[in-house]
Amino acid sequence: CGIVGVLGNHEAAPLLVEALKRLEYRGYDSAGIATVNSGALGRRRAVGKLVNLSDLLVHEPLAGKSGIGHTRWATHGAPNVVNAHPHRAGPVAVVHNGIIENFRELREELAATGIDFVTETDTETVALMTQRYVQEGLAPADAALKTLSRLEGAFALAFLFEGEDDLIVAARKGSPLAIGHGDGEMFVGSDAIALAPLTDRITYLEEGDSAVLTRTSLVIRDANGQLANRGIKKIEIDQ
Ligand code: GLU
Repeated sequence: CGIVGVLGNHEAAPLLVEALKRLEYRGYDSAGIATVNSGALGRRRAVGKLVNLSDLLVHEPLAGKSGIGHTRWATHGAPNVVNAHPHRAGPVAVVHNGIIENFRELREELAATGIDFVTETDTETVALMTQRYVQEGLAPADAALKTLSRLEGAFALAFLFEGEDDLIVAARKGSPLAIGHGDGEMFVGSDAIALAPLTDRITYLEEGDSAVLTRTSLVIRDANGQLANRGIKKIEIDQ
């Protein structure tokens, strides 16, 4: 399973699929991507190998230079299209590896406010909670950070938002996550290998870190919400 993200200067969909291919070695049962194109959030998902997602994208292309992608290894809910990531709730799209341990409590809290669920996953709770915080008036990045502060478990997450062509929020807790620096581009990947064709300049998030990315900025907070500087490493990977 794996997570990738692109805030680029080229079409994101092929870059996302290529980066996901480089994470295939981790295993997965389904895959999907979401992009933002002039503010409009769209997504495509397919069960099985990445070629199924590529085929879908030939028939139903997804434009946009900003996006997130995912290969899923189902833990909560069957491996079908409805449960495949990205999960979407209104203006929020989320990809997630790992397990949200307290999702049942969060789900009950959301259900009590009349919110309906369409999947069996722990991940959908993250999208719905973030949507609720946006509806309450928080800016997208703040809504994602507030949601993150409520999650327990071991996971990596990336968020993309309708109306935001230059924003990804990412977080790591128990699952590795790397940020890649391009020239006026920024990337996210479960590991640096996924990003190797895109950049060799990598910032590794540390345990409990969250990151707010734009094409030209990276703001990292540690597990206590304090600003943190994780540096940039130049890595060497055979492509
Ligand atoms: N727990 C999530 C799900 O079942 C993510 C699984 C994964 O790590 O891919 O959808």
